[in-house]
Amino acid sequence: MSTLFSTTGIILSCRDHKEVDRWYAMYTKDYGKIEFLARGGQKVLAKLTPHLETLGEVHTLLVQGRQYPTLTGVERKRAFLGAQSDYQKMVLAQNAMSLMDMGTRPHEADPVLYDVLHQWLSFLDTAPSLSPERSAYLLGSFSLKLLALLGYRPELHQCLRCRQSVRPKEFYWHALKGGIVCVSCRKQDSDQYFAARPMEETTLKLIRFAMGESFSDQLRPPLPGETLLAFHEAIEALIISHFPIIPVNSLRASCQ
Ligand SMILES: [Zn+2]
Repeated sequence: MSTLFSTTGIILSCRDHKEVDRWYAMYTKDYGKIEFLARGGQKVLAKLTPHLETLGEVHTLLVQGRQYPTLTGVERKRAFLGAQSDYQKMVLAQNAMSLMDMGTRPHEADPVLYDVLHQWLSFLDTAPSLSPERSAYLLGSFSLKLLALLGYRPELHQCLRCRQSVRPKEFYWHALKGGIVCVSCRKQDSDQYFAARPMEETTLKLIRFAMGESFSDQLRPPLPGETLLAFHEAIEALIISHFPIIPVNSLRASCQ
């Protein structure tokens, strides 16, 4: 038996199915990520897809079939027009949605994750125009918050091994183990921590700020070249070590 249900969400991705149908992945507050089919030939799709393929929050009406839901109606709840009209912001929005799509599994509801995605789009909607450096940094901030919510929150204050607070300049960074290790633990347990790398205090501070503060606050910190480079290397290493699917492009390349 098929059941009708409605839900609100943000479209993460779409792909063609057969000649005339299309699959969509949507992140919803109620159900987490769901995948549904929009079918019915060009005429029907032409009516439905403008809402699905522009940036926005949509209200959908779906029929749950035996295997998957099929779309029967869609209405736009909010269009992020300020983000849509700016190329750099659209790139940022799409990269974030692609990271969400790669990092989440269907039917695991997480309202906080939904709120972060919504905050991100609302922020882009009203943000001033962004340089490629600021954009790449912002995407790093989004990635850190996403990693944390997906269960890979990096340890940025205490040593991973002895759990003591690390003192300034007395730590190393270990992406695979997910955070910082103090100087003496690295020495004592060199078998486990030989891959730990030096990191500047300024880089650690920037990572803490990017993870802890709101998106609009991320417009403030100065981004000196070397710190930004180290920041990106650290976050990309976290993504590669912990993400279920590794993105094709680096965060920096995505924003060029
Ligand atoms: Zn330690």
